[in-house]
Amino acid sequence: MTTTSHGFKAEVQQLLNLMIHSVYSDREVFVRELVSNAADALDKARFTGLTRSDLTATAHDDPAIRISADTEAKTLTIEDDGIGMTQEEVVQNLGTIAHSGTKAFMEQASEGDGPKLIGQFGLGFYSAFMVAEKVVVDTLSAEPGSEPVRWSSAGEGTYEVEPGQRQHRGTTIILHLREDATEFGQDDRIRGIVKRHSDFLPWPIFVGEEQANSGKALWVEPPSQIEDEDANQFYKSITMDWQEPVRRIHVSVDSPIQYHAMLFIPGYRPYSLFDPTAAKGPRLYARRVMIEEHASDLFPDWLRFVRGVVDSEDIALNVSREMVQKTPIVRKIGDALTKRVLKDLGKWAEAEPAEDTPENTTYPAFWRNFGVLLKEGYYHGATNWGEQLLPLLRFNALSHDDADGLTSLQQYREAMPPTQETIWTFAAESREAALASPHLEVFRKKGFDVLLLTDPVDEWLTMSLTEFDGMPIKSITRGELELDDEESSEEQGEKTDLTEFSPWVKELLGDAVSEVRESTRLTDSAVVLVDAEDGLSRNMERVLEQTQQGTQGLTAQRVLELNARHPLIKNLAALKANGQEDAAADLARMLYDEALLLEGSVKEPAAMGRRLQDLLVKASQAALD
Ligand code: ADP
Ligand code: MG
Repeated sequence: MTTTSHGFKAEVQQLLNLMIHSVYSDREVFVRELVSNAADALDKARFTGLTRSDLTATAHDDPAIRISADTEAKTLTIEDDGIGMTQEEVVQNLGTIAHSGTKAFMEQASEGDGPKLIGQFGLGFYSAFMVAEKVVVDTLSAEPGSEPVRWSSAGEGTYEVEPGQRQHRGTTIILHLREDATEFGQDDRIRGIVKRHSDFLPWPIFVGEEQANSGKALWVEPPSQIEDEDANQFYKSITMDWQEPVRRIHVSVDSPIQYHAMLFIPGYRPYSLFDPTAAKGPRLYARRVMIEEHASDLFPDWLRFVRGVVDSEDIALNVSREMVQKTPIVRKIGDALTKRVLKDLGKWAEAEPAEDTPENTTYPAFWRNFGVLLKEGYYHGATNWGEQLLPLLRFNALSHDDADGLTSLQQYREAMPPTQETIWTFAAESREAALASPHLEVFRKKGFDVLLLTDPVDEWLTMSLTEFDGMPIKSITRGELELDDEESSEEQGEKTDLTEFSPWVKELLGDAVSEVRESTRLTDSAVVLVDAEDGLSRNMERVLEQTQQGTQGLTAQRVLELNARHPLIKNLAALKANGQEDAAADLARMLYDEALLLEGSVKEPAAMGRRLQDLLVKASQAALD
């Protein structure tokens, strides 16, 4: 093997430029990042060694992370006895970025917060360039027959790969510190950083001769004896999150299965929440040995915001990594913990937060970050978890002042006037679009609250959400409304008879609508389009149009409803009854156009424009005559 020079991928170089040229106040996090990579490598070696006896040996009897600072040489060296990297892996891991993280990181990392965020995006290694003018990585893979490899770079466009020096498996990273970063060439400074950021990593971290971290597996300690500060630090060290978690769920169970779990909920929505390729799930340990960094099958997919550690004495260590999550014991632990998490969310949802509770640790704040996943959970897991999920759901409603308002089904139910017999929902593109819709007229008048569903997942949610506490849940846009509306007929004026007019309009409009009928929904508007009793709703159609699959040829069946008390309808019905069918027909076509306009779903604006223009010509002519 000879020395070869490689160019960084463009996006890596962009990231490196940012690391090199930005002025960061919290550069010390590079220690946390490199130490966490070393710990990951040790975890991998230990786990792989459980099922394979041919991995090459370590240099030390007690695998550890060793850090030494050289004040004179202005270097900092971080060494581990981990799994190491082959030449291919070096090029793959330290030259390209496979993760989708870079782009997201560059978009989100503004001004000074680069160091805070970098680890979350799977780019931690590159943080070394905040403090080093040159980084050298000497590594030897634990795979038998591997050759030692050396990777080095000044972060300026290229990196070199050449034969390395290591005799034993693991990785040594040497940072040649920049003039403005020589503080990191001192043991005491490094010791403080390790204590601050990596105290609970379960591998000894030596700085000089001394172990700098406690190495305590915090999750096996009795829950009552854990300090928030320690738990939060542990959370940060495994998630690379810069912020504190907003919720901690710590469980220790002895029977029938023994396990400890320390789970956390982050205080923000991670960038990769909807990336199907993103790693998810807590860390899974068996007897303190990490066997999966992301146990993706432990929890249902919709609990993918839960982070932390699950550790059991009862998981067999000789099962392959792929199989372990599927074993009955792990399944049982996963189910028990899912229940436990939902129970905790239930307590949180009900709690009356104290005056001084920070906004971001309240349930509504959690709901804004992750509520969409609980809705997903309800329609995917209604049979198993529905009962626990139902009280967790929150909705914006007509009665709120703005889109921030949230109501539970229980609250909605309790506020219902005695005459109301249905929980009403309205799925629309946005709160604004909903509020402008004629559909709400009669509900406003009657004082019935309506849940406004503006999230695409709501369309799926409402399919499984059909009843709460014995009350039917229905969409206000679907089918005929059975609202007893007679009381106010006087103030509304007389109705005109539409028995002949409605079928005539239907014939005129042809297949554009499936039916034309008298409305019980309207007070001010003349017309409205509603969804047929069965089939695709218009909102679902809109949601599907925005997905990759599209509507697959399905279209919503619409019903045109006419307000029999509206002067426009009265006039048209009269025109038609008088035999002036041509004039009535032009105007009746415009009724359909108006209804489309009102719901913002005009499909053929040009044709509608022409009809409008013809009509205006006639109207202006009539005015002149
Ligand atoms: P992440 O740790 O999120 O994957 P990093 O940028 O921190 O991202 O590291 C990139 C990759 O480089 C790691 O996933 C790992 O494969 C490899 N790597 C980094 N440091 C080490 C190390 N000390 N030992 C073995 N592999 C390492
Ligand atoms: Mg890392």
